[in-house]
Amino acid sequence: MVARRTVSVFGATGSVGRSTLDVIAAHGGAEAWDVQVLTGGSNAALLAEQAKAVRARRAVIQNEQALPALREALSGTGIEAAAGDAALVDAAGERVDVCLSAIAGAAGLAPTLAAIRAGSTLALANKESMVCAGELVRREVAKAGTRILPVDSEHSAIFQVLEERQSDAIDRIILTASGGPFRTFSLEQMRTVTPENAIAHPQWSMGVAISLDSATMFNKGLELIEADQLFPVDSRKIEILVHPQSIIHSMVGYRDGSILAQLGTPDMRTPVAYALGWPKRVDAPVEHLDFVALSRLDFEAPDEIRFPALRIAREAMHAGGLAPCAMNGAKEVAAQAFLDGQIPFLEIAVVVECVMESIDHGSAAASLDDVIAADQGARTLAREVMQRRVRKFA
Ligand code: NAD
Ligand code: MG
Repeated sequence: MVARRTVSVFGATGSVGRSTLDVIAAHGGAEAWDVQVLTGGSNAALLAEQAKAVRARRAVIQNEQALPALREALSGTGIEAAAGDAALVDAAGERVDVCLSAIAGAAGLAPTLAAIRAGSTLALANKESMVCAGELVRREVAKAGTRILPVDSEHSAIFQVLEERQSDAIDRIILTASGGPFRTFSLEQMRTVTPENAIAHPQWSMGVAISLDSATMFNKGLELIEADQLFPVDSRKIEILVHPQSIIHSMVGYRDGSILAQLGTPDMRTPVAYALGWPKRVDAPVEHLDFVALSRLDFEAPDEIRFPALRIAREAMHAGGLAPCAMNGAKEVAAQAFLDGQIPFLEIAVVVECVMESIDHGSAAASLDDVIAADQGARTLAREVMQRRVRKFA
């Protein structure tokens, strides 16, 4: 049992957030963890239930319309209730031993930055923070004298096997990818897939946005940029390897030919537990890996023709500055349009690429306002591109 640590969970009602509360429950619950803040988007009933279970001090809901329901559900418990974007940032500004950032999408950036500025150790699931504002986040981490513990499973794996004091001995980082539900599909087959097909991930149970990103492979593109921001390795040394079983979560290769890998069942509760307990390992309620039942592991090269997101992300990474932020903003809009039935699946990458061709590449982000402006600009452009293309094909 670890000493009682203060912890906050942003995005507690989501997939990673629920995994986090499972780890907290499995490892001593409110006896072992002093839970300060839990947040959710609009599910007040679930957020209140979670807050009561761990005896949190404060529950914050993003959607202000859900505040009365949250207040009602928490009445008599002594747990504070608040709502709105400013309340989220305010709650993140309260220092804790570890703040788990698991809001979905670029919306997670402002609370992430506030948590860093407060000096909390950041357990980071929200990859968009590193994609949209990696340099800014790293600057703020250095200024606050805190650190980032990656929760994205690949980055947790790399973090676990990367010998930081020997970074000059690193030959390559191998980022594994499941390949998503359309790994074996031809472009012709992908033309007619539905949102339902796209969010049915073969290995991982995740939120809707990241499941769709796994189908387009934009998720691996975001993770490539995230890895470049998190680890002291030349971006050209980061490779993507398709590994359909998702057992090897990523690997680091060294100059002497050694390759270190982290393996486990595909369950986010392992990387969450690693980050929550770090530098100790704590219990996680996950299945043990049975190698005999598994019997084999497969590997394939990634295909940038069928999955252009990989190439688009690599180009954005090399362009640097605000290019990855623009890519992510355009991708979030195009992905939502696909989920809403407005554009076909293959159009998602086309829209993002059109936006990337028309933006000014490479300017650096000095502040959160610069990042928000680049994100908003890309979203507006993506909507314009979609309107133009829909007219063209109508
Ligand atoms: P999810 O959609 O299941 O949950 C997202 C959480 O954020 C929910 O609590 C939701 O209510 C909240 N939220 C959504 N929009 C919000 C907004 N505008 N403001 C405040 N809160 C908002 O997502 P998830 O799958 O748990 O993913 C969360 C983050 O973790 C993403 O950045 C994702 O890329 C990353 N991640 C997820 C997994 C996974 O297995 N699910 C793995 C690695 C990384
Ligand atoms: Mg991942």
